[in-house]
Amino acid sequence: MTRLTAFIDLQAQRRRIGPRMDEAMARVLDHGKFIMGPEVAELEDRLAAFCGAKHAITCANGTDALQLALMSKGIGPGDAVFVPSFTFASTSEAVANVGATPVFVDILPETFNMDPASLRAALGRRHGGDLNPAAVIPVDLYGQPADYPAIQAVAEEFSLTVIADAAQSFGATLKNRKVGTLADITTTSFFPAKPLGCYGDGGAIFTDDDGIAAVLRSLRLHGRGAHKYDHERVGVNSRLDTLQAAVLIEKLAIFSEEAEARQPIAERYQAALRDVAGVSKLISGVVSAWAYYTLVLEDRDSVALSLKEAGVPTAIYYPKPLHRQTAYSGFPRAPEGLPVAEEMARKVLSLPMHPYLDAGVQGQIIAVLRQALEADLLTGTKG
Ligand SMILES: *Cc1c(COP(=O)(O)O)cnc(C)c1O
Repeated sequence: MTRLTAFIDLQAQRRRIGPRMDEAMARVLDHGKFIMGPEVAELEDRLAAFCGAKHAITCANGTDALQLALMSKGIGPGDAVFVPSFTFASTSEAVANVGATPVFVDILPETFNMDPASLRAALGRRHGGDLNPAAVIPVDLYGQPADYPAIQAVAEEFSLTVIADAAQSFGATLKNRKVGTLADITTTSFFPAKPLGCYGDGGAIFTDDDGIAAVLRSLRLHGRGAHKYDHERVGVNSRLDTLQAAVLIEKLAIFSEEAEARQPIAERYQAALRDVAGVSKLISGVVSAWAYYTLVLEDRDSVALSLKEAGVPTAIYYPKPLHRQTAYSGFPRAPEGLPVAEEMARKVLSLPMHPYLDAGVQGQIIAVLRQALEADLLTGTKG
């Protein structure tokens, strides 16, 4: 069976901007400033302007962005950092790598994002004796910003820094404020499959705080001080390649159009599938970046197989919650456990989603899916 579409069609975008992109990359090859070349600062200015943040600091990838954000606040051993269990491993990995303790919090079933009540419950418990509650990292799963107003209220009460893991939500807005301005510090990823992706690894950090921005600029360059061989602090080597910055400048130029093109596609899925599957619910005032279009299905695995046989690629983000992973099972959890994270890990399935998904092809995907669900009901395997 030939594939109906790619899960994320990067080639469609390449057909659109290929020549301009090739020229932008050729300019870098010609000037030869591969590390911290002029495109890096230009991209940072454009990224900051795009989301209305005072500072954008690029780095090597989205995982480093999280680690740098934690380092900029001096978070380390003895500190507790509250993270959802239903996310990519980077969120807890960055916490563990600075020596702090990730504490796993549950999610809400219809938004897939951190449950503020579970966060509050986790804060009410003393973990491993005397950990200091230092930060919370809400994740904007599938492109929808977490409930920042509710999380901010809890964070203020407990003096937590809020670090938004916006790897999947760059371009989204909450009450007319863009991602990048919704938390004390926001991190994102330019991994190719993210809403704004480059041609390799890349990441960025956003903040309105001048002091944190200055520390971040130093940390990513080996803790650099006033000049090249002056090291003020222990840092890391985490720069965005000039070539990737050049790629991102070209992609950012069409990014708003792409973000808009995702909206009717997501709406068509929502309208066509809400009677047969669990669809995500947007919180009030949100425009999602729709990085992924995700359903909740009782019989996920058999539906995924039927789709595959009909030429429709799917993906599961994520099949195992972090608190069940070998690397993270020993860390503390919210007192009521993480039942929603566990349930969603069994039931979620993401459909093809990208700005160039043709309405006709999408119609076929929807038809195939509805057929698979009906067949499933008839054979009584559902539930
Ligand atoms: C992709 C992703 C990251 C990590 O980004 P990299 O650039 O791959 O390091 C972190 N958090 C979430 C939620 C992600 O989806």
